[in-house]
Amino acid sequence: VSLCYDELSMRAKSDFGGLRYYNTDVDRRFRVLFVLGGPGAGKGTQSNLMVENYPVVHFSVGELLRNVPEGSPHKATIDQTLVAGKIVPVEISLSLLKAAMEDARQHVGAHALFLVDGFPRNYDNLAGWCRVMNADAVLEGVLVYQCPLPVLQERILQRAKDSGRADDNLESVKKRFRTFERETMPVLDALRTAAAQHNSTKQRYAVIDIAGYKPLEDV
Ligand code: ADP
Repeated sequence: VSLCYDELSMRAKSDFGGLRYYNTDVDRRFRVLFVLGGPGAGKGTQSNLMVENYPVVHFSVGELLRNVPEGSPHKATIDQTLVAGKIVPVEISLSLLKAAMEDARQHVGAHALFLVDGFPRNYDNLAGWCRVMNADAVLEGVLVYQCPLPVLQERILQRAKDSGRADDNLESVKKRFRTFERETMPVLDALRTAAAQHNSTKQRYAVIDIAGYKPLEDV
C-alpha cells in the first residue's frame, strides 16, 4: 500500500509540497528525508525551522552521538572520532537513530516525515541503512545544503562561542569538510544517479540542492 495514487498525491501537494501520499493506517514505514551538507551548512537551523512549520520530526545523528552518556561503552570511540572529523561506525550511529525514531513514532502522527540530519555520511552508512532500515523506511528525498568552506569556517567559529562542541574549531572544521568532500559527496552522487534511474513511481525520491550559503530567510 505504498503505491502512489495520482489523485491522492495531488491532494497531498498542498500539505507536503508534492510528496507522495501513503495510507498510514496500513503502511507503517518511516517516511524519511536525508539532510546533508558540510559542517555548518545550516542542516540543524533549517531542520528546526521545518519542525516549526510542518509535521516533521528532526534527528541529528551528530547530536545523538554527542549525547551518548558517559557510561556507554561507545563513548570513547565516538568522542575521538568526532574530534578527528571522522565518521562513527554505522552500527553505533544507526542503532541510536533507529531507537530514537521508534521512540518518536509513539508521540507523532503516523504521517509525520522524519528528517535524518547528517546521515548517510559515507558508503558504509548507506549500506548499513539499506541493511537495517530498508524494510522499515521509505526514502522520500535528500535535502543538500550547499555551502563553500570559507563560509562554513566563519559560521562554525561563530557557533563555537556557545556550542561547547569539541569539534567546533578551525582544525576540526577543515577535517570534517575534507571528510565531507571525500566520503559524503560520492554517496550524494550515488543517490543522485539512483534517483535519476528510478523510473518506477514506487521507488522515486528527489535530491534537492539548496543554496545554503544564502541568508537564513532565503534558504
Ligand atoms: P549544521 O547543522 O549544518 O552543522 P547549523 O544549522 O548548526 O549547521 O549552522 C551552523 C551555524 O551557522 C549556526 O551558528 C547557525 O546559526 C549559522 N547559520 C545557519 N544557517 C545560516 C545562514 N543561512 N546564514 C548565516 N548563518 C547561518
